[in-house]
Amino acid sequence: MNIVEKNRENILYYEFEIFKKLGFINHLFSSKIGWNIENTIYNVSKILNVPESNIISLKQIHSNHIEIMDENLKDYGKITGKEGDGLITNIPNIVLMTYHADCVPIYFVDTKKKVIGLAHGGWRGSFDNISGKMIKTFVSKFDSNPQDLLVTIGPSIGPCCYEISKDLGESFLERYGDFEGIIMERHNKTYLDLWKLNYLQIKKSGVLDKNIISSNLCTSCNINKFHSYRREKGTKDRMVAAINLF
Ligand SMILES: [Zn+2]
Repeated sequence: MNIVEKNRENILYYEFEIFKKLGFINHLFSSKIGWNIENTIYNVSKILNVPESNIISLKQIHSNHIEIMDENLKDYGKITGKEGDGLITNIPNIVLMTYHADCVPIYFVDTKKKVIGLAHGGWRGSFDNISGKMIKTFVSKFDSNPQDLLVTIGPSIGPCCYEISKDLGESFLERYGDFEGIIMERHNKTYLDLWKLNYLQIKKSGVLDKNIISSNLCTSCNINKFHSYRREKGTKDRMVAAINLF
């Protein structure tokens, strides 16, 4: 398994094996078991062992806008609530957090420079290549070598369930014609593979194949563990992705 289930006092969450071995980051992906909107920040703070005031999240707008927190930023608390869908930092004990119900959580770690990032990639953000833009930002702002990056793709809606319109499928094929298998036709319906799209964007940005790990967990198929915006017809409930350096 690329991703493992953890259970702490009846709170279920997930961790990527590849990150656990690093020894300088904590991270998680939450579930619907033991989590609700009221206790999310408390649970993240407890599990990652970081004060609640150090948990940073954006107002997600399905964009490819990225906010950076480094030593030049005097008050990182001001980042919370700004609009955007990607966060990057090299400051320890700052938790980057994004909200998800089907949209793809993408975690980035520069294992040499000790820089971390987190992105929220729904179809719009993925269409606008937020994954590629994250890696470009690591390179331009932190002098990262893409070959030192580990990138993971967390639980989100899979190609099994993510039906889109024919027109949208055409738009993806126009922009990503060289990406084989991102659009599928089944029983006269069109499906988008957001996992493969992000994987190919990450690979094209110079990250090594072996350093891109997908959980391959579909939120819509695993409705007993996850919220799914599609399956639950517009739920307001969300899981969170979270990561911090320590
Ligand atoms: Zn599915």
